[in-house]
Amino acid sequence: MNISKNLENAARQFPDNMALMADSRSLTYRQFNTAANRIAKALQKKGVRPGDHIGLCAPNSPAWLCFYFGVLKIGAVAVTLPHAMTGAELEPVLADCEPDIIFTDKAKKEVLSALSCPGEMILETDIMFEPVPAVPGKEEVVSLDRHPDDVAAILYTGGTTGVPKGVMLTHKNIMTSAFNVSHNERSCETDRALCFLPLNHVFAQMHIMNATVFSAGGLVIQPAFNMDALLAAVEKFSVTKLYAVPTVYIRLLSLPDIKEKLGTVRYCFSAAASMAKEVVREWKARTGLDINEAYGMTESASMVSFNHYHHHVIGSVGTPAPNVEIQIRDETGRVLKSNQEGEICIAGPNIMKGYLNRPEDTETAFWGRWFRSGDIGYLDDDNYLFIVDRIKELIITGGENVSPREIEEILYTRHEIEECAVIGLPDREYGERVTAYIVFRPGQTLDPADLKAYLKTQLSSFKVPKDFISVTELPKSSTGKLLKRELKRQVLEG
Ligand code: ATP
Ligand code: MG
Repeated sequence: MNISKNLENAARQFPDNMALMADSRSLTYRQFNTAANRIAKALQKKGVRPGDHIGLCAPNSPAWLCFYFGVLKIGAVAVTLPHAMTGAELEPVLADCEPDIIFTDKAKKEVLSALSCPGEMILETDIMFEPVPAVPGKEEVVSLDRHPDDVAAILYTGGTTGVPKGVMLTHKNIMTSAFNVSHNERSCETDRALCFLPLNHVFAQMHIMNATVFSAGGLVIQPAFNMDALLAAVEKFSVTKLYAVPTVYIRLLSLPDIKEKLGTVRYCFSAAASMAKEVVREWKARTGLDINEAYGMTESASMVSFNHYHHHVIGSVGTPAPNVEIQIRDETGRVLKSNQEGEICIAGPNIMKGYLNRPEDTETAFWGRWFRSGDIGYLDDDNYLFIVDRIKELIITGGENVSPREIEEILYTRHEIEECAVIGLPDREYGERVTAYIVFRPGQTLDPADLKAYLKTQLSSFKVPKDFISVTELPKSSTGKLLKRELKRQVLEG
């Protein structure tokens, strides 16, 4: 088992189909496979053996993918590192995963060189994949078959609730995820998926990249989210699938002619953070398209549950993926009934082998074979999953539990609000004080007293924020997740 065999299959079946499209360079499946073969050979020559850790710390580019598949072909482990991290942030991560070789870009090479033992560095310019021959030659490297439980990739968690942890994903985890995604999205070789989310993260790497290669579709690759570049790429490469996080959909809705601009898109997908129902409704009304919401995490190699292609329940993240089981449990581990809120626990062939170098964290993350997500949710009578919040982000005020998301949902019904985050700040009287941070749409605002009165009509009074603070932006991770922990730190440290 090895996802890089799917690249070889795609190169055989659809050699001239465009595989990787970027402003700088585009490659067909034959060229993509040939480039991965060359990298595999070069790594073998350097003495890389199955199981060795090979790092990738570079922005999204066709070369990134060629390198990743080259690593997997020879049975080595791709350790994918956030390129957005600073040297100080990368230092402990590198000490944790100890890659022998790192694929990186020029700027990062300088940063990495200043750190202790970063390993050997390879630049994109060192990867001689030009000119790539048009005819398949002797360069063929047949992917090594790996045991389904062998580690294929190590990805770091988003770091939303603490330090990022290295998640060991196996070949079975990757194949399960690729199959589930492409089956659910009815993916095929004529699809063109847009990928501007960072490839080191589970969303882009498993849900977009591996699932697209699995179905021999095309990947339109961009280094980051940029509205103009996104719209230009949709038109130039006839993108059919849009993958984004909620904040990107909110930004796109500010365009008056969004429907025309996305003319070729047949499928829109969102995950990684909670999506306000209002945004999904407005998107549907304006573009005619659903935003298919799904739920996943690094530890589950992406999708745990998804909304169905032909049936979308707004506000839900759908039903469990075909081979994935979900249970809702209370703090003691007792399994709850439908409609009862508790911790979302997951079992299935998509669940990680464990955290790298963290046996204790791995042990506490499981109840037997059930992985504890740290998220609160419930399953309705039809087995649709609803996410309430992260356990760590719940606010306890005056002894009552408050889910920030419930309040944010109502704030989002006000058109003047572009983005918001509700957090609990330390308070002598209440323990935690419910506080709302709001980014208004350009030229718009709302009086805090009016907003408070509006919320009082919809929420029990203990849930209504005591303070409303207008800000120009909210801290986010490189995948576009709101970082409430960081917001709290900024507020408390002034
Ligand atoms: P860390 O584990 O380091 O704190 P993280 O949990 O943000 O970081 P990821 O694995 O990238 O790292 O994110 C998974 C989390 O994202 C889930 O546990 C859940 O809290 C959140 N999430 C994913 N999909 C959704 C969704 N559709 N709606 C709401 N939250 C979601
Ligand atoms: Mg997490």
